[in-house]
Parts: sequence; structure tokens; C-alpha cells
Amino acid sequence: MTTESFEIKAYPEMWKDLGMDVERFDKMRLMLGEIFRKTYLSQKNRPLKMAYFDAMVAEIHGGRIKELLAAKAEGHPVIGTFCVYIPEEVVLAAGGVCVGLCGGSQGSIPDAEKILPRNICPMVKSAFGFKAGKICPYFQAVDFVYGETTCDAKKKCWEILDTMVPTYVMEIPQMKKQSDRTMWLHEVKEFKAKVEEIAGTTITVDTMNAAVKVMNGKRRALQRLNSLRHANPTPISGKDVLLVEQIAFYDEPIRFAAKVNELCDELEQRIARGEAVPSKDATRIMVAGVPMALPNWKLHNLVEGAGAVIVNEESCIGTRYYKDLMAEDGADMESILTELTKRYMNIDCSCFTPNDERMAQVVKEFRESKADGIIHYSLQFCHTYNIEEIRIRETCAKEGIPYMFIESDYSPEDVGQIQTRVEAFLEQIRG
Ligand code: SF4
Ligand code: SF4
Repeated sequence: MTTESFEIKAYPEMWKDLGMDVERFDKMRLMLGEIFRKTYLSQKNRPLKMAYFDAMVAEIHGGRIKELLAAKAEGHPVIGTFCVYIPEEVVLAAGGVCVGLCGGSQGSIPDAEKILPRNICPMVKSAFGFKAGKICPYFQAVDFVYGETTCDAKKKCWEILDTMVPTYVMEIPQMKKQSDRTMWLHEVKEFKAKVEEIAGTTITVDTMNAAVKVMNGKRRALQRLNSLRHANPTPISGKDVLLVEQIAFYDEPIRFAAKVNELCDELEQRIARGEAVPSKDATRIMVAGVPMALPNWKLHNLVEGAGAVIVNEESCIGTRYYKDLMAEDGADMESILTELTKRYMNIDCSCFTPNDERMAQVVKEFRESKADGIIHYSLQFCHTYNIEEIRIRETCAKEGIPYMFIESDYSPEDVGQIQTRVEAFLEQIRG
């Protein structure tokens, strides 16, 4: 696919059947295609195996939606989620399909601001606006959504969202005491019962074990990709890895893992040849903090536009999603669910207090990725990440890690200011 021939495919008939605002959505499709061309297809020396992921973007509003609708027609529930704490293994075991609905676009925020307060985080507003404005085929295709209680903005939005699409909520603990772990196991069991009820099926030990293997396979492929990009020089741009990580939240998991592994095979050959992206002496940056939902490519674009390369995302779009696997071949449902709750409780979201594990994890990933500095990225009005940033900053100071904090939203208004700050930070690192 050439830069000129790339387009995000239109499916107006299907969108109409899904009850969408077709005219408006089509304008967003054209804008997204243009941004993708400029941000992604203009890159030099991309791995050839990125072609699959580019094609997924071209079919983001059509091909994958058709697959979801076909799954629904066969009686498989399609569940929308907003957080990596929602156990996908359980959904897969019930024959269901999971899609991430977090919003990363400025385009849907005005729709949300007609209903919600303006001063909440753009991720919540963007996701909510997609449903309110009927401008997201995924939101229109899902049977129901499962929210969680990780932050105040989300947990109060679910009540309003429930008037537009059936919305269930899982309570996520905010501490890691034994009583929290017991409560979390109870929540997982309730989640399983709800998914079984809606899917009209019973999850068995066999279907659960099979689902665990699928998710482990997907997470292993992403671990492999992340570890290959840690090579110095790195064989792939941070933007490309971010795109793969974002597609992980809506692609079919077995096919996705196979395609990531094909990409990894190519990266191994590149590493053997010493092929570097963008150049051998590029400054290496690790990003930590809030996840970047599709199509939020703002920070990566600015950092890599300044000649540096991003080599790790310590966030839920990155390592927090795939760093931990689950034990396979559990003997009975109780032990499988207990293992599952343990795996999920390792996700060190800033909603936890205290969250010391995250400080250690940030330093560990910085060392493993051979980064030269850390940018902590937070969204406006995200209290937990914005306040936890203080402890990350102190940790970096103690460890002698060059560090910068960026708080942003999805609008283009602060691009010039962030660019100046990123360039100054890179200069400081390069000495
Ligand atoms: S940052 Fe926290 S709330 Fe957001 S996806 Fe990760 S675990 Fe969930
Ligand atoms: S970025 Fe922060 S405020 Fe926004 S949804 Fe995630 S945890 Fe909540």
C-alpha cells in the first residue's frame, strides 16, 4: 500500500444499519486517514510486516466491524471495555469478543461536553462522546459494556452511559490488602456469572484453560515485540509499536498474535543486520503514565519528529497490558480464577494506594529498554496519574534518570509548547 493509495474504507450502508450519524462519521474517517498518512506512512524504512497493521487501520471501521457483527449473528456476545483490569480470558472462555472502547480522539469531545462537565479527563470524554454522538461503529456494535471503578470520572459516567447502552460495572480494589484480594476474587466471579448469563453459556475448566492460552499467546507476542525494540539500535519506531499495541485492543487475538510474531521475525533479521530506526545514535526515550488510546499519537509523533525514538511504554497501552502471564492448565475453576485475580492484581495502576510496585517497575523498564530518559505522560484532570507523577519524579531523581513531565489533552493547541519542551529535554540528555 503506498502513501497515496491509503484510505480508511467507508461502509455507509453498514454504518446506517448500526444507527450511526453517517455524514459526520465519514468526515472523521477522512480526517483520520489524512492524519495516519502524515504520521505513519511518511516514516522511512518501516518493517514490511507493518503492512498488516496498516491494513487493519484501513479496515478499522469496516472489516473488523463485519467480523464483530458476524460473531453476534452466531450468538457470541461482543463486550466493550475501558480498562485492562476487565478479564478478557473470561469473555473469550464464554465464546465472546472483547473490544477496547477507550477514546483517544478530540473529534468526539464536543459531543461529550454537551452532557458531561468539561473538566474531566479527555479519555473519558472522548469515549463517552463517541456513543453520545453515534460516531463509533464499535460502540454501536457491542451488546453491552463493562466499566470499572478505577477513577471517579469513569465510575460516575457509567450511570449516564447506561441510558445509552447496557453498562455493567466491576469494582476494582484500590489497595492490595488481603481483604481487597478477596473482594477482587468475588468481583471476578460475579463478572463470570454475568458474562455467562448474557452469553447463555457455562464457562468450563476446559474453555477457561483454552482462553488463558490464547491470552498468554497474545501477551507473549507483545512481550517479544517489546523486548526486540529494546535492542540498541532499535529496529522499529516507537510510533509503529504504539500502533501495534493499540490494535491489540480490537483485533482477533489469535490472528493478532501470529501477525505480531511475524513482525518480530522480521525485527530479528533487522537486528542481525544492525538496521536502525531512525538512526544509530537516536536518543532513546521511555514513556510512562496514562495509556494512549487510538488515535492518540501526539507525544510519539513529537518525540520522534525531534529525532529521538521511543523504546518503551510503561502504561496500559504498553507493558501493564502484557507484562504478566497466567499459569496454564488449571485443575479446577476455583484455582484458575484465583490465579487470574493474582495476575490482574499485578497491574500497578495509579488508582492503587500505595503504589510502590510501580516505582520499582518504572526503574526496571527504564534499565531493560536502555532508555536515556523518561517522559511521564498524563492527561489533564487525571488526578491519580498527575499526583503519582510526584513520586515518579522523586524516584527518577534518586536513580539519576533524566526526567520530564507532560500533561496534555487531545487538542492540537499545546503541540508547539510540548515540541519546545521535548526538544529542550533531548538537548539536556545529549549534553
Ligand atoms: S490506567 Fe488504570 S484505569 Fe486506565 S486502563 Fe490502566 S488499569 Fe485501567
Ligand atoms: S486517564 Fe485517569 S482520569 Fe482518565 S480514565 Fe484513566 S484513570 Fe480516569
